[in-house]
Amino acid sequence: MTDATATETRDLFSKFDPLINEREALLATGVRDPYAIVMDQVLSPTRAIIKGKETILLGTYNYMGMTFDPDVVAAGKKALDEFGAGTTGSRVLNGTYQGHKEVEDALKEFYGTSGAMVFSTGYQANLGIISTLAGKGDYVVLDADSHASIYDGCGLGNAEIVRFRHNSVEDLDKRLGRLPADALKLVVLEGVYSMLGDVAPLPDMVAAIRKHPNCMILCDEAHGMGFFGPNGRGAYEEQGVEGEIDFVVGTFSKSVGTVGGFCVSNHPKFEILRLVCRPYVFTASLPPSVVATAATSIRKLMHAGEKRAHLWKNSQRLHKGLSDLGFKLGSETPQSAIIAVILSDQMQAVAMWQTLLELGLYVNMARPPATPAGTFLLRCSLCAEHSDDQVTQIIGMFEAAGKATGAIG
Ligand code: PMP
Repeated sequence: MTDATATETRDLFSKFDPLINEREALLATGVRDPYAIVMDQVLSPTRAIIKGKETILLGTYNYMGMTFDPDVVAAGKKALDEFGAGTTGSRVLNGTYQGHKEVEDALKEFYGTSGAMVFSTGYQANLGIISTLAGKGDYVVLDADSHASIYDGCGLGNAEIVRFRHNSVEDLDKRLGRLPADALKLVVLEGVYSMLGDVAPLPDMVAAIRKHPNCMILCDEAHGMGFFGPNGRGAYEEQGVEGEIDFVVGTFSKSVGTVGGFCVSNHPKFEILRLVCRPYVFTASLPPSVVATAATSIRKLMHAGEKRAHLWKNSQRLHKGLSDLGFKLGSETPQSAIIAVILSDQMQAVAMWQTLLELGLYVNMARPPATPAGTFLLRCSLCAEHSDDQVTQIIGMFEAAGKATGAIG
């Protein structure tokens, strides 16, 4: 091993020096590292112990609160006992268990599609599906604010990337119009955008896309599944464009409450992807306990109308409470379970984040490049299991932290 302490010499880490310096300067001001929080105990979907303090969780993607659902937990334990801790293999070789089939059947039922393919994460689902569908000479047309996994899928597949302005139907139409008519195009949309919590105008986008030849549409419903639409399929269901979307990609790491990713489709040739999709073929499949918890959770989410209604109520109450206090929010109206509080700069964002944590509230701090237009955000994600009383407490903590840090008057 070479001497890694010789910081003077230039090596492959040198490009990270600006980030290392920025982080060290921030920590030198005495704040806690926002990216090094440890949950010592997790008591429920909405409560954890962090550094000895009981804390309300408002920074998880546990939208439907399924992580502690007794049926979900029991299914995981049973599969662990019956099938062991892991598969130790790829789906294509030695890693397909009965549980993988079961979770794919649950997805087909949930989405009403003929095909479903499960990946080890949602990141890999986007990476795999996008790179396999759109290769050299093809075009991926995507929203500028797309998730990293969508961009990385384009990179892996070597397709041409064409970005349109976030949620702009006009720009989407214009950019599609400039592409060669005979080229094959994959348009990638997200139902709900995770940074600001805003929703895509899908019917208008679909109408614009359908004016152009040779386009297929993929919609990432990572943040819409469970919560949007009469069956919880996502924003595309709520907005009535189900018949127009060729591929839905999603994750088990949010409303489903575990880990994993998937793609569902009615395309008659969908199954062939299992043999040609590298992030599906060349990695180990999900452990039996994980697929069992996912299948149980997905089946329960089909009948979660009451939870969806309570989550909407939470989102509306928190949005109103924070805007009444004078905070600038990511969307003018509550559009999803994500409510982003926009702060003026990194210092104010960190000060608010730390004060909230000291008061017993955990939210996410997000910064560029993950955030749009260089914004510093405190991102709040609500859960269907947050009680009315917890939402009241959360608003009270924001008031106290906002006044203490000068973020509000
Ligand atoms: N798509 C979007 C829009 C996401 O926000 C995320 C995760 N935050 C993913 C895909 C990846 O999901 P996973 O955590 O399962 O890798």
